[in-house]
Amino acid sequence: MPEYVIIGNSAGGIGAVEAIREVDKEGSLAIISDEPYPAYSRPLISEYLAGETSLERMLYRSRDFYHENAVEAILGKKVVGVDVDGSFVTLSDGEKIEYGRLLVATGGVPFVPKMEGSDRHGVYTFTTLGDAERMASRLAGVRRAVVIGGGLIGISVTEALTKRGIVVTVVELKDRILNVILDEEGSRIAEEAVRRAGVTIMANSTVTQITGKPGGAPGVHSAVLANGDELPCDLVVVAIGVVPRVDAVVNSAIQRNRGIVVDRHMATSAPNVYACGDVAEAYDYVLDINRLTPIWPNAYLGGRIAGYNMTGRSAIYPGGTGMNSLNYFGLAIVSAGLVMPDGQQGYEVLTERRLEEGVYKKVILRDDVIMGFTFVNDIEKSGILSGLMRDKVDVGGFKQYLIADDFDLTSLPKALRKARLGPRPQPSAGAAPQEKARALAVD
Ligand SMILES: Cc1cc2nc3c(=O)[nH]c(=O)nc-3n(C[C@H](O)[C@H](O)[C@H](O)COP(=O)(O)OP(=O)(O)OC[C@H]3O[C@@H](n4cnc5c(N)ncnc54)[C@H](O)[C@@H]3O)c2cc1C
Repeated sequence: MPEYVIIGNSAGGIGAVEAIREVDKEGSLAIISDEPYPAYSRPLISEYLAGETSLERMLYRSRDFYHENAVEAILGKKVVGVDVDGSFVTLSDGEKIEYGRLLVATGGVPFVPKMEGSDRHGVYTFTTLGDAERMASRLAGVRRAVVIGGGLIGISVTEALTKRGIVVTVVELKDRILNVILDEEGSRIAEEAVRRAGVTIMANSTVTQITGKPGGAPGVHSAVLANGDELPCDLVVVAIGVVPRVDAVVNSAIQRNRGIVVDRHMATSAPNVYACGDVAEAYDYVLDINRLTPIWPNAYLGGRIAGYNMTGRSAIYPGGTGMNSLNYFGLAIVSAGLVMPDGQQGYEVLTERRLEEGVYKKVILRDDVIMGFTFVNDIEKSGILSGLMRDKVDVGGFKQYLIADDFDLTSLPKALRKARLGPRPQPSAGAAPQEKARALAVD
């Protein structure tokens, strides 16, 4: 019986393996994934689709990682059930694997709304390397594509398809693209850049039907909008959103809300079962609540914390927050924490614009503590800002500098500057291993 079983061979799963092996070199460890590849950097699938990278260059760890860490990698197999009373998981081929400690790091799954024609050949989602491979292999003859959803995944696939010479229309339900990670002004700058690349954006709109080729030939003919307009196209990508992937645990007693509920040890409600990453509702240090914060560094860090606790060494998740950096269509954007004050009193918003350069900076404060920031096309100082935000530093004495062009560490008061320039503590169990998580995040 493997002492440790991990479902999910990605950021969270790998974080856990590394923490477990720091503490326990011997305990048997199995990692299970229904994807057939060694762990790869999921955010790079758009580069793969664009033809700019390969699986080898996307690998998150070397191919020897599993052997070197004495990990039994069970790849290409799906977990169909978790029995928390019997302490075993069941694979799709019926095999049962017992565990001493279990980590559920199953990530997210694309949400595909009910829509006539969504199961047609030529309709894709875009969250896995398999999606990118399938799409890449069928691009011959594709001239026009419709991407449903103007969020981060929609824009990433739009850029890849544009680079492949395909004319793309983005259909967005809300009034602007990237509306979850940007405010109106940020979205407007992003839209200008996307349009400059020849992409059409149809906001306030949605696709209700995907029609097939005349005569019943396989493939897509058009996307029909809610107002009846028809967009002729050869390919459709549904990129409306991603929801926690809970199919493996859906019949178990593990407590769920939108995702799996975890405490600061990343422990679930079931004994010896942990969860992390996109599937888990973990602590957000900005909002001071547990919620989904589905980004790579949070998954990795949560995995590490779960891993330590699985070995019996106590470690506390310091928290993560929503933080996105975006480098598509020549844009450089970082947005973190609160994107827009939620209407409550007490927020202060600092902004700076250099419109001719497409630069926009916004910092949201409450009681002189940074609650969120958005930097567009001038992101160099976002590392300093995120450090100040994470550490809840009182920036009252120097807040006017936060959005200044020449803001850097020397703008901070001397004592603070010294503290931030000095050696950072090394990550270890019990401490906050955020530094390492960040350094290892999305290569
Ligand atoms: C196109 C795209 C771009 C992104 N860009 C960024 C970015 O720029 N920056 C950033 O921080 N984040 C980005 N993200 C998000 C980031 O990839 C995720 O936050 C991260 O991958 C989450 O890691 P995870 O380990 O929780 O789960 P995942 O990476 O989702 O991995 C979960 C794994 O578990 C497997 N699995 C699930 N259920 C089962 C089961 N029942 N049986 C067996 N295996 C199972 C899945 O197949 C998958 O391999 C992006 C995501 C996408 C899709």
